[in-house]
Amino acid sequence: MNTLYGAAAVSARGRGLTSQRARDRLVATLRAQGIRDPRVLDVIRSTPRHLFIDEALSARAYENTALPIGLDQTISQPWVVARMTELLIEYGAPKRVLEIGTGSGYQAAVLAQLVDTLYTVERIEELLRKARRVFRNLKLENIRSRHDDGNIGWAAEAPFDAIVLTAAGESVPRALVDQVADGGALVAPLGPPGTQRLLRFRRHGNDWQREELEAVSFVPLLGGLG
Ligand code: SAH
Repeated sequence: MNTLYGAAAVSARGRGLTSQRARDRLVATLRAQGIRDPRVLDVIRSTPRHLFIDEALSARAYENTALPIGLDQTISQPWVVARMTELLIEYGAPKRVLEIGTGSGYQAAVLAQLVDTLYTVERIEELLRKARRVFRNLKLENIRSRHDDGNIGWAAEAPFDAIVLTAAGESVPRALVDQVADGGALVAPLGPPGTQRLLRFRRHGNDWQREELEAVSFVPLLGGLG
């Protein structure tokens, strides 16, 4: 595991609301809300979420809430990031993982510390540019990112051991279903605003096991480029 106990985590220590203590409090909240996997809790504890949002909001970085990142998009709520990560690594750490919806890059950064290579696709170029800058600053060298419509996945790099969508559609795009490796998993929020649920699909050959999990609230999965 390639956690961020390095310079970034250490230099934020003692800076009030972005301090290690604030992160420890967030981890305690996540644990109280049912997140159990110690690998996930460790990575959340060591990842500087305040670097993925605007400085004006950094005092709120370790609250368990989604926050605006501009262009009508949000950084996901830490509980949701933790839960999706837990669902993806529950049966052993997948090696190659594709995320649809880079946004701030926070979910990608969390996952990248638990898998071999994290691929991420974002349709809004400006968000992708900012996220890439943070990946570089944090020396997360196992993230590969692409400006594209995530509905078509990333065919040249498929199949993936796991795919995660961080924006909600009515159904899982066909191309993404096809890009899950045998034995792999796909985690996605599905449904219209107000009635979305987190779903996990596990592939066994041509059979899919479907689990319907918690109620969630995500921005919509859109088509085309932003
Ligand atoms: N994983 C992000 C969550 C960002 S919100 C984080 O941790 O911050 C969801 C993101 O999905 C937004 O940035 C939005 O632009 C993006 N998105 C929506 N539809 C998309 C599509 N078809 N392809 C790629 N990205 C998409």
